[in-house]
Amino acid sequence: MHNADQIEKLDLYLGDEVFVEKGGEIIPKIVGVNTDSRQSTAQKVVFIEHCPECGSQLHRREGEAQHYCLNDLVCPPQVKGRMEHFISRKAMNIDGLGAETIDLLYKKGLATSIADLYDLTFDQVVNLDRMADKSANNLILGIKNSKQIPFERVLFALGIRFVGETVAKKLANALKNIDAIANATYDELIAVDEIGEKIAIAVQQFFQNPRALQTIDRLKAAGIQFEVEEVALDSNELEGKTFVVSGVFSKFSRDEIKELIEKNGGKNVGSISAKTSYVLAGENMGPAKLEKASSLGIPIISEDDFLAMISTN
Ligand SMILES: [Zn+2]
Repeated sequence: MHNADQIEKLDLYLGDEVFVEKGGEIIPKIVGVNTDSRQSTAQKVVFIEHCPECGSQLHRREGEAQHYCLNDLVCPPQVKGRMEHFISRKAMNIDGLGAETIDLLYKKGLATSIADLYDLTFDQVVNLDRMADKSANNLILGIKNSKQIPFERVLFALGIRFVGETVAKKLANALKNIDAIANATYDELIAVDEIGEKIAIAVQQFFQNPRALQTIDRLKAAGIQFEVEEVALDSNELEGKTFVVSGVFSKFSRDEIKELIEKNGGKNVGSISAKTSYVLAGENMGPAKLEKASSLGIPIISEDDFLAMISTN
């Protein structure tokens, strides 16, 4: 009944008796209405127009069944959900902080955005219900330690729509810092490996929101990592060269090979194009890729060829 189309289709009135079936033998599903039992004074069910939590106008995206509250940086359950995502293990991994504590902090007005977490003091935290000295210390320490979390996970923690762990990593590695991502054009975004139209639009929308920018400014001031830590290069041997790595290798894993490319000044790209310098082929590389590389005249090299390229110094 969260779906306006279903309500309309069933032509529901308040107080109706309905027939329920087990959909797929498990999930209860309303299949019809007992109109005989309906009171003549009954009112038609009208789908709500405003968010029951924050009162803002609900929005339905073209072609989607669900309604959304777009007030996502203010609406209480959305703010709390955003904070829960921010502190989660794969994001900022803040020890000693869970959904219950977030709820308390929110209700007391101590943390109404992720940036507020970095202003919390021991005294504020220890005064919360059921918070012992030790837990309060853990929480403050957990928040402090999260300042060491690398940029790619910070980017994931921000909760940008469609930006999961993998996409966050790709964006961070390609554009290096938050300002470059925030100011990236649509074309720059879709040029990043695995970033398509849907993600590019979501990223741009996120950074158009003044509240999001304000939160980021406060997180910057708190000392959160907003740029990729530059790894010292082993050499510049591969500078200006792009590689497509494919297949299975015997001396290194594919990720290690990619790391070696970057550590020697080269760049990894996801797909073969006329601009690719080399295709680094391991065992079991797909025939389509091989064919594409040959048709474009791109040199195909082996793991040993590659290691020879970077071992000159
Ligand atoms: Zn709302």
